[in-house]
Amino acid sequence: MSKPKIFIFAPAHTGDGHGQLEEAGCEVVLGTASWDTPLGNSELELAEIARDCAALAGTNIKSSPITRTVMESSDKLRIVAKFTVGVDDVDVEAATELGILVTHAPTESNWGGVAEGTIGMMLTMLKKSRERDRHLKTGGSWRDMSIQGTYVGSRSDGYPGITIGLIGLGRIGSRIATLMRSWQARIIACDPYIPEPRFAEHGVERVDLPTLLKEADVVSLHVVLNRETRHLIGANQLAMMKPNAILINTSRGPCVDEAALIESLQRGRIAGAALDVFEDEPLALESPLRALGDKVLLSPHMVTSNIGSGLKPGVLWAMKSVQHALRGEVPDNVYNTEVIPDWLKRFGGRSVLSS
Ligand code: NAD
Repeated sequence: MSKPKIFIFAPAHTGDGHGQLEEAGCEVVLGTASWDTPLGNSELELAEIARDCAALAGTNIKSSPITRTVMESSDKLRIVAKFTVGVDDVDVEAATELGILVTHAPTESNWGGVAEGTIGMMLTMLKKSRERDRHLKTGGSWRDMSIQGTYVGSRSDGYPGITIGLIGLGRIGSRIATLMRSWQARIIACDPYIPEPRFAEHGVERVDLPTLLKEADVVSLHVVLNRETRHLIGANQLAMMKPNAILINTSRGPCVDEAALIESLQRGRIAGAALDVFEDEPLALESPLRALGDKVLLSPHMVTSNIGSGLKPGVLWAMKSVQHALRGEVPDNVYNTEVIPDWLKRFGGRSVLSS
């Protein structure tokens, strides 16, 4: 039996983790993607390297999506295994049509890091930490009312606290709700796809999107990127927000219409935005976002890159999923579950591994 070929199209900077695939008798080929630029192989190159592959695996490199063309280049392809949360860089519909499993790796290391980082960004803006620090370092007067922060929680003296609005109450949204609960702010959330009791479980009030936009002082996005959520926040939605409100996006750039957001910030229609993700990454040097000063808090899509966490658990999970698929077994983290019956007919019980 010839060795099954595995293409790691976007290796993780934290270490490859593919040694175990080689030990299991696979031929491993690495793509040229680089996490810090982040650029990878072209579609044509990907398709060429993916020819005859049994599995593709990798992290999230926006410039190198796994398209239908890439997947069609191998009729042996069993699985596309992502190291990270989310599969918006894989044409999942095409994978399903072609009978290929798509898995992702929603590790607590990753989504828990987004929750912590989102709260960090929110507090940095509300408490004006950057402005206060700069005020002293640039030799300003001692105190200045322009750098007053916002009191977040409700108090026994009747101060109601602010309202935090979470769009999406999945892993990240609900962790933020849990972490913020002790701050005693009002937390509202909109998520049409999760059952009612989950809202109460996390101490969250269920509202629809227009209500959330009208009532929240902080609007934070935690949805998957799909056809429905692309530009979920556009000019109309921004116009519904309070003028003192801030928008946080640590989900995916295209969930927000960036041009509309820039205009809204420039015209002072909302107070600010904290962004870890952008419509085009890396963010262009000439992006008007870079000229918006303290109205924006920008982060290079690494809100969840932390000492003590990182991609490693996701890499190991993906490698395990690849080995399951190569043995003809369905892994435990399949995203396009509807493909499983077809996939089992094609590959179920048929191993291409020698051991
Ligand atoms: P999840 O699947 O657990 O939660 C997503 C939630 O969004 C689900 O509960 C779903 O019902 C909800 N949703 C879907 N469409 C919606 C809509 N139209 N309105 C409101 N809610 C809607 O995912 P998660 O682990 O919480 O991650 C959320 C997203 O965060 C990921 O899909 C990924 O895009 C992003 N993410 C970003 C980073 C980063 O580095 N910035 C890291 C990890 C994840």
